[in-house]
Amino acid sequence: MLKEKMEKALNEQINKEMFSAYLYLSMSAYAQTLGLPGVANWMKIQAQEELTHANKFFDYIHERNSRVLLQPIAGVDTEFGNVIEMFERVMEHEQMVTDSINNLVDISIELSDHATRSMLMWFVDEQVEEEASVQEIIDQLKMVEGKGHGLFMIDKDLGQRVFVDSTQNAQ
Ligand code: MG
Repeated sequence: MLKEKMEKALNEQINKEMFSAYLYLSMSAYAQTLGLPGVANWMKIQAQEELTHANKFFDYIHERNSRVLLQPIAGVDTEFGNVIEMFERVMEHEQMVTDSINNLVDISIELSDHATRSMLMWFVDEQVEEEASVQEIIDQLKMVEGKGHGLFMIDKDLGQRVFVDSTQNAQ
């Protein structure tokens, strides 16, 4: 069984992943109002990914014969400014999630919970990828100043993203 402090922190992480999904779904809806179906697609897949993250914590807590206790998910914004500002919000949010994952690793070390620490390493790597891919999009958007033909091409590109459940590739 998980120690109480670890169990509580992992449950809080489920809530954060669910909140992330809700946030990106709201951004997807907002992108539709900007006339950017590719960005809307990217955000919707991002939301799906967050659900798989929540699910990975959900299953892990049960694997450790501990209890999942779901809490209310906070409301999300519905307006995100222009497309560059929206992706900067994504980056800010992902950096917060990275801090949160690092904090979980700290707790697992403090409690000598090596199994949880091992499970969390997947998320440590995942966050590096998340931040890198969002930064790449921000850089591209800034290159075209978030408008015109360049934005049209970036939107087309983001429209190509397909959902892959990456939690299925590891443990
Ligand atoms: Mg996540």
